[in-house]
Amino acid sequence: MTSKLWLVFAAIAATLSPSLPAQNAPSTNPPNIFEPLNAMLAGGKSAWTPDQLSAMERLRDAAMQDTYALNKLRYLTDNIGPRLSGSPQAQRAVDYVAGEMRALGANVTLEKATVPHWVRGEEKGEVVSWPGQAHRTTQKVVLTALGGSVATPPEGITGEVVVVDDWQQLHALAPDQVKGKILLFNHKFDKELAAQGDGLNAYAGSVVYRGAAPIAAGAAGAIAVLVRSVGGADYRLPHTGMTQYSPAVPKIPAAAVSAEDADLLKDLTSQGPVKLHLTLTPQTLPDAPSFNVIADWKGAEHPEQVVIVSGHLDSWDLGTGAIDDGAGVVVAMQAVHLMKELGVHPRRTVRFVAWMSEEEGSEGATAYMSDHKDDTSNHMAAIESDLGADHPSGIIYAGKTELGDWLRPLQAVLDPIGAETLLSAPETGEDIEGLTAKGVPSFAPRQDSRF
Ligand SMILES: [Zn+2]
Repeated sequence: MTSKLWLVFAAIAATLSPSLPAQNAPSTNPPNIFEPLNAMLAGGKSAWTPDQLSAMERLRDAAMQDTYALNKLRYLTDNIGPRLSGSPQAQRAVDYVAGEMRALGANVTLEKATVPHWVRGEEKGEVVSWPGQAHRTTQKVVLTALGGSVATPPEGITGEVVVVDDWQQLHALAPDQVKGKILLFNHKFDKELAAQGDGLNAYAGSVVYRGAAPIAAGAAGAIAVLVRSVGGADYRLPHTGMTQYSPAVPKIPAAAVSAEDADLLKDLTSQGPVKLHLTLTPQTLPDAPSFNVIADWKGAEHPEQVVIVSGHLDSWDLGTGAIDDGAGVVVAMQAVHLMKELGVHPRRTVRFVAWMSEEEGSEGATAYMSDHKDDTSNHMAAIESDLGADHPSGIIYAGKTELGDWLRPLQAVLDPIGAETLLSAPETGEDIEGLTAKGVPSFAPRQDSRF
């Protein structure tokens, strides 16, 4: 049920082509979308015609029933599986999505992007000495390498563990307290903030540690770094994600430990010296050629002007990438499918994009901005679904404040499915960040992020 609401957003996003006064297309000096909209609103008119609102209602109702997206997601996740950048599965997913979009009748192009190619190896953590240790015992520590991490030697390393809760505690330590040791950042994910519905800011508060921990720890002379797993997941599950190195600081192996194991290490180190044996054998292979999948559904009046409907195709390798971001890709596919099914003919071109390598540095989006740098002004709007796959409570938008006025009539369309909230935000999606920065109105479904 809840995931079907996604489809509604993608479907409605596909119609984000308000009834602007007719322009001569193609135009060498594309229209500023805001001026005609403001003129219409100032004249007491809605930015949307009754026909457009009724088309949105039809898309909404069809999206709540249609199984197209679910079936595509099933294949993408169960049959293809994890789609790490540069992997054979990522390439298989590119071919699959391109084929499916061609089957719908869209004009498909594969646009090249060069992406990182990092592969996970063995990963193992074991506490080998601690206060109160029974003779001839060790304790397992559940951990997983962070994306981009360098390796330990194949036989692993052993070091004393130092635990800090945050940057301040690290800075308070004397330099020799970290040198030669394994540093754990035990920054707790703010579950209360997430429970209040702001999972995104809870995530943002912790993910900075995952990103910058190797630099801070490397600069302090640590031999490896651990971070408490980012996110509210329990059941001793570690959560991976990209980490960062600086050319000025030695690169050290980096892993996330489960919340329970971070608590274990914190408690034991509060009692005395604790030694951990850590083995991580990931490899960073040469950058690999890959693609964004672009599929245009031609607009009837202004085919040169595009509205992007998108998700990212790559995914981390610990799961099958259903939520992050298979769901975003398939609902964007479904937007085109539903327009075809219902005979909805957009005035502008609806451009489906399956972005590549969002997780490892947004190389696909960077390539897109470079390839389309002379064409940015023909981008009328962009939406990316990459904030989960739970019930959307509304729409996040980034751009001029007038966008709120423009969107307001959509609340009546979205209210019956409990998704009528409109929220202005500085950003909407990582892959459409470049377009947002260029002034292109951008959007994202506002997901229930409590879990
Ligand atoms: Zn994502």
